[in-house]
Amino acid sequence: MILLNPGPVNLSDRVRHALLKPDLCHRESEFTTLQNEIREQLISIYGLAAQHYVAILLTGSGTSAMEAMLTSLIPQGKKVAIIENGVYGERLRRIAEIYAIPHVSVQHEWGAEMEISRVAKALAGDNISHLAVVHHETTTGRLNPLQLLGELCKEHGVRMLLDGVSSFGAEAIPFHESRIDACAATANKCLHGVPGTSFVIVSRTALDDAVERSLYLNLKAYFVNQEHGGTPFTQSVQTFYALHEALKELSEQGGQPSRYERYRQLAGQVREGLQALGIKPLLAVEDSSVVLSTYHLPEGINYASFHDALKQDGFIIYAGQGELAKTMFRVSTMGEITGADLARFLDSVEKIVGD
Ligand SMILES: *Cc1c(COP(=O)(O)O)cnc(C)c1O
Repeated sequence: MILLNPGPVNLSDRVRHALLKPDLCHRESEFTTLQNEIREQLISIYGLAAQHYVAILLTGSGTSAMEAMLTSLIPQGKKVAIIENGVYGERLRRIAEIYAIPHVSVQHEWGAEMEISRVAKALAGDNISHLAVVHHETTTGRLNPLQLLGELCKEHGVRMLLDGVSSFGAEAIPFHESRIDACAATANKCLHGVPGTSFVIVSRTALDDAVERSLYLNLKAYFVNQEHGGTPFTQSVQTFYALHEALKELSEQGGQPSRYERYRQLAGQVREGLQALGIKPLLAVEDSSVVLSTYHLPEGINYASFHDALKQDGFIIYAGQGELAKTMFRVSTMGEITGADLARFLDSVEKIVGD
């Protein structure tokens, strides 16, 4: 089955085989070595220096990393400004609400471009320490403007907390220029690992001000333990093996820039192929990530029957979220998939649309 959903992704054979490595106790030195190596691999993807940034590994899906980031890094007495233009921005706000973290939220229609003047106004408010924002809003495929938001953060003396769950490893992330204090991400999207491990890349200075609002998602506790080679709780050891292998593979393939290029080609192939069949993308190329795009459903075809027909041929597409579910579908090109797979996908779409 070819997975065109935004994670979990198709695994390469070498990553799948890594799951079969020897059983390992998370209190043994072999685990410490594995964990240390993954932490180094993760910060090296964006060329970050170990004296500035650390990778903190969690067992949980991407949302656990978002929740750990937000609950640990907004200092007591400070406020976070949250930008919403899709499901994941809304999720950042939900986390702030649930933990009663003081926040202001700048809401947009799902899929809309961010209104920078409204964001600037929110950042000018009292006691704002951070801007929390989604990099690639997977709801629609929109890539939010990190560079621009970074400049705003600089102007207003605030730092950025980034949901990079569906962009980390593929899209460019200017950590220093965008004043990024932390970036939450996961093993099983652009990094091509197995679901179960997520992580937060955090600046060491942000950890100085970290607070405890949660027992399990306390980033500082993970940090202190991991700096000494340990872990506060049991980690998903087999998932670590797979992530370690996936990161080795990424590095051998040329790292983030070449993954970006690979996705750009695959996404372009899908976009051109679908457009030739009269299926239009929601967003212009320059507003889209290379990771995922949203398309209008072909005339007279509902999502369920389109999905089921494609599944019969071995392809899993993804529904639109919320209101978009009735009229849209999504195609991601993450994971171990090739141009030949996508050519077969386009043939299959052609057959279904033509029927
Ligand atoms: C996938 C995703 C998440 C996390 O989803 P999980 O199901 O918890 O892994 C968070 N943010 C974005 C932008 C995502 O695409």
